[in-house]
Amino acid sequence: MKILTVIGARPQFIKAAVVSKALRERPGLNEFLVHTGQHFDQNMSEIFFEQMGIAKPYANLGISGGSHAEMTGEMLVQIERLIIQTKPHVVLVYGDTNSTLAGALSAAKLCCPVAHVEAGLRSDNRKMPEEINRIITDHVSDLLFAPTEDSIRTLIKEGIPTTKIVRTGDVMLDASLLFGELAGKNSKIMHELELEEKKFALCTFHRAENVDNPEILEWIVKGLTQVAERTEVVIPMHPRTRQRMHSFGLMEEISKSAKVCAPLGYLDILQLEKHSTIILTDSGGIQKEAFFNRVPCVTLRTETEWKELLSGGHNRLAVPLEDSIVEKVTQAQESDLDWSVDLYGNGKSSSTIVDAIFENYGPNEPVL
Ligand code: UDP
Repeated sequence: MKILTVIGARPQFIKAAVVSKALRERPGLNEFLVHTGQHFDQNMSEIFFEQMGIAKPYANLGISGGSHAEMTGEMLVQIERLIIQTKPHVVLVYGDTNSTLAGALSAAKLCCPVAHVEAGLRSDNRKMPEEINRIITDHVSDLLFAPTEDSIRTLIKEGIPTTKIVRTGDVMLDASLLFGELAGKNSKIMHELELEEKKFALCTFHRAENVDNPEILEWIVKGLTQVAERTEVVIPMHPRTRQRMHSFGLMEEISKSAKVCAPLGYLDILQLEKHSTIILTDSGGIQKEAFFNRVPCVTLRTETEWKELLSGGHNRLAVPLEDSIVEKVTQAQESDLDWSVDLYGNGKSSSTIVDAIFENYGPNEPVL
């Protein structure tokens, strides 16, 4: 059986690492890994391939930057060519980026089945480019891997037939468990950044709606400065955020109150998550990793697609320009949380996904 997998951004490398590993363990499978090039720096791309043992891509399209239309359009053209060339039984896409949308749409237009990992997530905010990518991808997919109860309900509500939906749990839990142990043994980041266990706040933010808006970015900087008066703040800073910090003249201010470093490899970030006392983020993945590590989380957004974390109080929103970040941190740290709830499965989601792919597409001949 042949699968063509499309990845391009950091969280997709992490998800694909565990699913591709499970795929490689099954005989008779050939995976064509396509890297769109959306993320390309050493510490946003290469390091994940090295540390997580991801195979060298069959093709790297080198497409990054430009407008959403330019990026997605260029990806559509090149992925279509690759699908025609490799004739996969199924195209596998992850999450909610332009690479996800381009992979799904190219395949669907060629009548090649599409399987979507992390289906059914909704922030209900259509101003987010990711939300548009999620909705379209789900509606052209043939096999939808839904990680949570809420995601299944959403897909059914939107009219997706239940026969296409597979409840999987979250592959990020698989990754966190698999690589968490390795991180404990190999990561030296606590020492390198001179941090003490449970005595620092870990903070990441990079969403366009936060960092492209100078007022909101300033709200974040002011809020983190207040948090830093109580506990050390560590920010592995996304390249987009760094660029905006410089152009809005906020870099000096944030560097005075927080420890700012380059984006980290997966092992190092897992290690910091585990030892932090609180996590502040606008990342989807890190909200869940906070939960996996039993660390309370404050999300710097107006809403989140991971709604189950809000209901249990494991995560709370700090709404930009409305809420006080430091107050939310206090509330999070003072709340008594039940970490025993099962929200994301048992860490074997990648096997469930691979089983379903084989069941659905294993015996078939190529579609094209
Ligand atoms: N991550 C990482 N290094 C960092 C920051 C994040 O490896 O410096 C990982 C993080 O642990 C999570 C994933 O990247 O697994 C989240 O990616 P991102 O925040 O870019 O995207 P999102 O989850 O919001 O789609």
